[in-house]
Amino acid sequence: MVKETNSRIRIISVIVCIALVVSCAFTLAKFGEKKANYEACITNHDLKIESQIKSVEDNKSALKNAENDIEVFKMANDESSKQVSDKKNQLMQYENLAKGKVCYLTFDDGPSNNTLEILKVLKKYNVKATFFVTANGINKYMKNIVEEGHTIALHTYCHEYSKIYASVDAYFDDLNKIHDLVKKETGVDSRVIRFPGGSSNTISRSYCSGIMSVLTKKVIEEGYQYFDWNADSTDANRDGQPVETLVSHVNADAKGMDSITVLMHDTDAKKTTAQALPQIIENLREKGFAFDKLTVNSPAVHHSVNN
Ligand code: ZN
Repeated sequence: MVKETNSRIRIISVIVCIALVVSCAFTLAKFGEKKANYEACITNHDLKIESQIKSVEDNKSALKNAENDIEVFKMANDESSKQVSDKKNQLMQYENLAKGKVCYLTFDDGPSNNTLEILKVLKKYNVKATFFVTANGINKYMKNIVEEGHTIALHTYCHEYSKIYASVDAYFDDLNKIHDLVKKETGVDSRVIRFPGGSSNTISRSYCSGIMSVLTKKVIEEGYQYFDWNADSTDANRDGQPVETLVSHVNADAKGMDSITVLMHDTDAKKTTAQALPQIIENLREKGFAFDKLTVNSPAVHHSVNN
């Protein structure tokens, strides 16, 4: 009886063991399956994040490309606006040349801190002008004037009336000095001149009676040509002369004229001259004037000599 009982117990134990083994195997198999699923899930999730990161990167790159395209378009637009404006200026210049009306813009007493601004405006409007320079300013800008295609002309080395009009020799000493300085700075052998105070000045009477009568003839004998003016911006009257005053004086002086030589100044104190320049050019162009620079052969405006 005991034997039979032991045998049953053994059988039951074996069955329980088998059941446990089967159950463990089953649990392990389930666990393995869950683990695999879980790992697949993580991999999928990683792939999703990677794909999202890539998508953000792609969007960033597309945005950058779009910004570049806009920049290129803007530049092209600016360039074509500039080309249209250049062509318009050129066309008006040719039309006005055909009308035979000419304006010579002239700037005395430079170069100065305003020279580059003046050159910028002249370039924008495709206008050539004439600069009567001294040795009192920023000499290195003389080269800029020449490189931009304008006439570099001689005014005076020191611009001190008491020195330059002390005698004929004193005048020529000063003229030779500015001539040589311009030659050194630019390589140009300039023969275009303007007397300080103009040929009609009376201040020279205080230093040498009759000197202007002699100089106006002698400079031409020496191969120079002098130029006064017949239109005055009035920027010499006071520093900071309002833009509208400068513009209206040039307009008034240009009325009924076919050839004007406009007096302006290029010194640090004459900021409003550079500011008025666009309006002065636009108005004169509208009135039918073409712009040109002075050469020794240009029609020369000469004032009456008073000394
Ligand atoms: Zn001057």
